[in-house]
Amino acid sequence: MAEAQKDRSMTLQKEMIAGHFERMERAPETGEKVVYTFVPGNLTELIRSFGALPMLPEINALQSGMRKLSGDYIAEAERSGHSEDVCTYVKCDIGMLRSGNIGPSGTKLPKPDLLLLSYTGCYTFMKWFELLREEYDCPCVFLHVPYQGDGVMEPAHREYMLKQIKEQVIPALEQVTGRAYDEEKLKYHLALSAQAEDDLVAVLQAGKQVPSPIDGYFGTVYYVGPIFSAFRGTPEGVEYYKALRAEIEERSAAGLGPVTPDGPLNDQRYRLVVEGPPNWTSFRDFWKMFSDEKAVVVASTYTKVGGTYDFGFRHDPSDPLGTLADYCSGCYTNLNLPARVDMLVNYIHEYKADGFLINSVKSCNSFSAGQLMILREVEKRTGIPGAFIESDLVDPRYFSAANIKNRLESYFQMIDARRVGKSA
Ligand code: SF4
Repeated sequence: MAEAQKDRSMTLQKEMIAGHFERMERAPETGEKVVYTFVPGNLTELIRSFGALPMLPEINALQSGMRKLSGDYIAEAERSGHSEDVCTYVKCDIGMLRSGNIGPSGTKLPKPDLLLLSYTGCYTFMKWFELLREEYDCPCVFLHVPYQGDGVMEPAHREYMLKQIKEQVIPALEQVTGRAYDEEKLKYHLALSAQAEDDLVAVLQAGKQVPSPIDGYFGTVYYVGPIFSAFRGTPEGVEYYKALRAEIEERSAAGLGPVTPDGPLNDQRYRLVVEGPPNWTSFRDFWKMFSDEKAVVVASTYTKVGGTYDFGFRHDPSDPLGTLADYCSGCYTNLNLPARVDMLVNYIHEYKADGFLINSVKSCNSFSAGQLMILREVEKRTGIPGAFIESDLVDPRYFSAANIKNRLESYFQMIDARRVGKSA
């Protein structure tokens, strides 16, 4: 992939992921318990405090997409009756299961001992785990996170979540692992999360610099990988983010840009903000369409789907269960449309962007619903015209390289024309 320079953080991440998957493969023999859960609203610290291993099905699906495996898996799921309209992460997961359940890194994936469903704004999550519950005949526990319809989490919402965590989630984990809830252990993991979150935020905010030493979308999906998946609240996670921050600070001090598919992007002509997930099946080609034009993404909303740390939230060990509720409530998919607009407008101003782009993915209503309204509102509030493109997450049938390239080229020309107009 792009980071051919093999930074220490990249090597660390590869080792961490490989070790985790190997450990999960051995779980049926070692007796370690495996808890499947989703990225937004994941309770990784709580799972880890019970000595269990988290598995994130969306991450498996996106990695299958990047490794060009998802097309066959989706076809397999469609043959077994899943409609073309179903989220392709789900079909990719089901197809992988039907094809032997070998994960993207080549190891056999273990069955879940528990499905832990934090419901943060996506109805598909429920349907997905209903399918897995049928498939594996295993327990499923549900944490209902109230949607921030009015843009705030009321005290009653927090209480409602705390009650569920105490009365349903913790007992389910106790039963599956055979261990009692240990608040000191949970606090230990939460303190590690907060350390890593500080370092991650320093990395994300480096996008404010000119030139930007990071790509806040294509490069940053790698950077958020450990914290959005199994490694938040672990010593390995802390070490990874420390190493990553040091690398970015070094790059920044040297005035260097991010490493892209075309090598380092030091000469940056356009600074963009992006809304929506990337396409994974043609990830490298998609990124190259930006780097070819010397466009760097300085910030994105998708890289906040597993936590909006750059707006101040940190896991707080002094309030161990309350902080889990706060975290779940603040995930991007649980925010209403005005809050998403505010976030984009803030990024455009704070990161000195001269354009913004929405990648609307066919699969994901959680992201796509309302994106045209978001486009119009952000244009109105910033005075900057946005671009709108369409693709999908992991279904290769919905990535039309020529169309997207044309759209992007026209958009960059329009930014140039506006600059000429302004300076005339
Ligand atoms: S619809 Fe979107 S948020 Fe929901 S599971 Fe699919 S990709 Fe994830």
